[in-house]
Amino acid sequence: MNTVLLFAPLAMAAATFAAQPPAAPVPASAPAKAPAEKAADPAPPAWHTITADSLMAIIRELPAQRSGGGRPIVPEGTKPPALDDAHRQGLVDTQWLLARKAIDLGYEVRLEPVPHSRRGERRTWSYANVVLELPGWGELADEIIIVGAHFDAVPGTFGADDNATGVAAALEIARVLKDPAFSRTSPRRTVFFSLFTLEEAGLIGASRHVDYLTLRRLIPTMDAPPEAKERIAAGPRVVMMLSLEMLGFYSTEPGSQRNPLAMLPGAPNLTVGDFIALCTHSTHAPINARLERAMLAAEPLVRTARIDQFPSPKVPIFPPDLLRSDHGPFLAAGVPGIMVTDTANFRNPHYHTPGDTPETLNAPLYERTVRALAGAIWNIALDPEPFPAPSGQPPQP
Ligand SMILES: [Zn+2]
Repeated sequence: MNTVLLFAPLAMAAATFAAQPPAAPVPASAPAKAPAEKAADPAPPAWHTITADSLMAIIRELPAQRSGGGRPIVPEGTKPPALDDAHRQGLVDTQWLLARKAIDLGYEVRLEPVPHSRRGERRTWSYANVVLELPGWGELADEIIIVGAHFDAVPGTFGADDNATGVAAALEIARVLKDPAFSRTSPRRTVFFSLFTLEEAGLIGASRHVDYLTLRRLIPTMDAPPEAKERIAAGPRVVMMLSLEMLGFYSTEPGSQRNPLAMLPGAPNLTVGDFIALCTHSTHAPINARLERAMLAAEPLVRTARIDQFPSPKVPIFPPDLLRSDHGPFLAAGVPGIMVTDTANFRNPHYHTPGDTPETLNAPLYERTVRALAGAIWNIALDPEPFPAPSGQPPQP
């Protein structure tokens, strides 16, 4: 999560909140089904191979320093940790580690150069986005779903929640989608896993990724003539983008959630930080609702808060806090970008501090969120219901 807009006026927006009661237990005396319908217990879904242990193992493997910019939070009067070459080299090492892990999972890996030097620096660092592509099959293959997560952290923090949790989730979902029950099914959509560098330095990796996708004509440009937009709408195109941005910090304590929505009349009372938020622009509300339905179908106990009912006549601006991640450049390009987040500084006291360590994560609830996402992406990729063609226009208030 990027801090550039951290101190912007608090956002106001309406949200819907879905909290499912636990499924009713089946009574022991339930009438037996007719023998013809009787079947052995179905195998657990493939996404149940994602566990707290499998996720935490990836998190602990990431280099402790992996930064090319960004602002840590330090106590008043103290100097922030320096962004030294060890941080920068760690970021380069991280991209190679992730590329190797993706190859081990059986993926073709695309490294997208994101060369960068900070103001006043002579040296340009060879940063890169790491992109895994799982081509679709059949008539749905032209519709591309992007699962994105940034792998850099702010200097001086390990960045366990921000954003090792998103990176580990993306890799685990990528592993699950290599299951033959998915990867040999046709028709199905194409899925890209886009691991971004330099989010904390200003969404630089994701912005370059949007540029590359535009060059590959997978996203229409805003000023493209109508024929070009029609051509893209009829060919391969990005139909949905998820930014996995901090998925691991939860609390079931009352008052554990700060709520930037609370000022809006009728807003739900989100004061317990045990949910995962799905944030996008109201233009894309139907796609956000589709994601939420699919998550709840895959993992009925997951708690979600969907935040997409803006702008409205009452709230004419896009609340800046809801743009502070890699989905921002996608929204600006007219692609339905959705930020999936534990709400960062509105819940996690360790946000952008040295305290953001693996020990502070709530592994069981993190596992539940990632299973819900994996199952949702699996099912949405196979669901014949079409997506609307991307407009190439940023959402208008
Ligand atoms: Zn951050």
